[in-house]
Amino acid sequence: MNFKVKGKKVLVYGMGMSGQAASKLLHEHGACVSTYDDEGKMSNYFANEKNPMQKEYQLIVVSPGIVVRGNTLISYFIRKGTPVVSELDLGYIFAKGKVVGISGTNGKTTVTSLVGEICKHSGRETFVCGNIGLPLSTIADKTSRHSTIVCEVSNFQLELSSHFKADIACMLNLAPDHIDRHGSFEEYARVKRTLIKKRGQKVILNYDDEGINRWSLTRKTTFFSKTILNKGVYVKNNYIFFNKTKILPLSEITMFGEKNLENVLAAVAIAVKLKIKPNIIREAVASFKAPPHRLMYLGRLRGADVFDDSKATNISSTIAAISSLGDKGLVILLGGLNKDFKFDEIFNKGWNFEEVVCFGACGKEICECGKKYGYNPICFESMKDATCYVRDKAAAGQKILLSPACASFDEFSSYAVRGVMFKEIMFGERLQIEMS
Ligand code: ADP
Repeated sequence: MNFKVKGKKVLVYGMGMSGQAASKLLHEHGACVSTYDDEGKMSNYFANEKNPMQKEYQLIVVSPGIVVRGNTLISYFIRKGTPVVSELDLGYIFAKGKVVGISGTNGKTTVTSLVGEICKHSGRETFVCGNIGLPLSTIADKTSRHSTIVCEVSNFQLELSSHFKADIACMLNLAPDHIDRHGSFEEYARVKRTLIKKRGQKVILNYDDEGINRWSLTRKTTFFSKTILNKGVYVKNNYIFFNKTKILPLSEITMFGEKNLENVLAAVAIAVKLKIKPNIIREAVASFKAPPHRLMYLGRLRGADVFDDSKATNISSTIAAISSLGDKGLVILLGGLNKDFKFDEIFNKGWNFEEVVCFGACGKEICECGKKYGYNPICFESMKDATCYVRDKAAAGQKILLSPACASFDEFSSYAVRGVMFKEIMFGERLQIEMS
């Protein structure tokens, strides 16, 4: 791609991990880098602008952490005709090799990690990056034309991305999320769909997800499904097939729950499109463990099984967890920071929870919603108090599940810190992560 930054004045907007990575990449390619952050985060290496709208730039690079909707700075530069690209675009422009892009409302990290493991197992030079915690801009210069880049792509990264084109683009599912940032579900879905709309891509879609199975734009789309299909990746007689080829038996999958089966099917579909051999896929799937805080079994407390699903930060992931575990004996902890959700879907299915325990900034709202459907939730100010309560009442036959359906930022710096604290209270272990 003909995209030169040498000698150009470039503003990097947003100084989180991605912004820092973009600045470094630009500098290494000879750009004159300035930075700006609404919250005053500074770069230690580059000029920090106070009033970027008073300056001229030849390119603006925007980090995924920046809210685009209603952003005066971004609209100002777009109106002025200054090219505005995302950090994902920038990384993509300098990266070499085959790019796999994985998106969807839930399961992105799980599938990205699994595809990464399968690729590594096949002996390829593999880079696992993107929203998973390693910006594409960080690894771009390390890649070669032999590399396989497995990139988790979030909506925030896609929002201003017009250059990024995944050779293989996979969409896992679609459900409401981040409405607070996008303004509407329609806009959230529109942005997601841009991942699979580029010419010449191999597109992989979840046949079983009503939201996206209609998104197929070409006859070349590969579908994956938990039911039998004529072609594509599907389940038949407890085996995963690709077309007529047996790939692996379901019994070898170590992650549990229906949704994780969907994740494995997606990863298999990507792997076969990468032309990785069935035995390699099979071995890598069999040895793969789901990343932490995703419906993770923590252990037993006085006969109660305890699960950490702190990464469930939207309604559909919480519903997936409940469906996987079953409602019988289920003590569910819900709450945190609401991302503009209504919680009815958790309570309108007639599930027979053992107890509903709410906490945090929207604890009361969830409680009120539960009451509408005849539940009698108990509400606590903090996650700590809610967890102490369930710990003290833990009894044989219970399944205690933290699957909050909300963001963690009202009380914690991340879902991971929330999950670690849950475990430490339930089992009295020392905290591994420094609390915010
Ligand atoms: P993401 O990166 O998209 O947030 P993760 O793999 O981190 O996805 O999982 C986030 C949450 O969604 C966890 O609670 C996990 O148990 C749940 N989850 C994982 N895969 C799926 C799926 N395919 N459908 C619904 N929920 C899922």
